[in-house]
Amino acid sequence: MAAPPGGSTGDPLSISFPTTPAGGWLAEARHLLVDLDGTLVRQQEAIAGAAELLAHFDGRYAIVSNNSTHTAQGLAQRLRRLGLRVPASRIVLAGELAVRQLVQQHPGARVLLVGSPALQRFAEARGLRLVRADAEFVLLALDMRFSHARLASAANELRRGARLLATNADATHPGPEGRVVPETGALLAALVAASGVQPWRVVGKPAPLLFEEGLRRLGAEPRRTVVIGDNPLTDAAGAAALGMPCLLVGHAPGAVAASVAGLLAPEAGAPQYRLSESTSKVWRSVRTEVS
Ligand SMILES: [Mg+2]
Repeated sequence: MAAPPGGSTGDPLSISFPTTPAGGWLAEARHLLVDLDGTLVRQQEAIAGAAELLAHFDGRYAIVSNNSTHTAQGLAQRLRRLGLRVPASRIVLAGELAVRQLVQQHPGARVLLVGSPALQRFAEARGLRLVRADAEFVLLALDMRFSHARLASAANELRRGARLLATNADATHPGPEGRVVPETGALLAALVAASGVQPWRVVGKPAPLLFEEGLRRLGAEPRRTVVIGDNPLTDAAGAAALGMPCLLVGHAPGAVAASVAGLLAPEAGAPQYRLSESTSKVWRSVRTEVS
């Protein structure tokens, strides 16, 4: 999708036009950090150009996703079924990273984990003690079986003094036929409302942790790394905070192509998305709320 020329100041998603075309940014990129949902896959299929992009950057990309329900191993298998061969070691996920951070900084911690069975098994296998009471931390991830009882349990642990760690703050992700799927951020809003406790830490984009982990796994420098994503407020804002250029795809304001296929086209001359001052302000207020 071509972006409109210019961009009005005051519009929170206004854009500016650099001189380097999208194809130029990709040609200069040594490494890529690529979002998953809406960028490489949508629902149960790979998006046009996804396989070609990953093949072109073979060994030089990492996937960075706010996904908190899967493990990298499980996701690698799912991607293989969609025709994308991605090593699990190159998939950085908000759910797994939240667990890894707890294990590293608070080994053996007592954790009330509200999340998928896969994430619970991952956490237990790494030595976290999953408990229902007297938790040191409440770890909130996307839980498809979230209930009033789980909300009550987590809220009361927070009121008792546990710290709240959330995998990500996305309110929704796109579902089939234009519907939305409630995400961790929607559950987080309920938990904050019920407990009166703000998150101690939010791991997912736009916070820098996922990007930093992706860079570390690649041995990459931010200046030679391009972020590709579909969400201005997570992918583009997170990239901007670390000084990395971001190419947005999809239908968000400022997107340079409808899909990653458009980035690979030789005539790709679309502008790079850049955060306007007003968008940065929006992001700062978001970050203030969740960090
Ligand atoms: Mg996305």
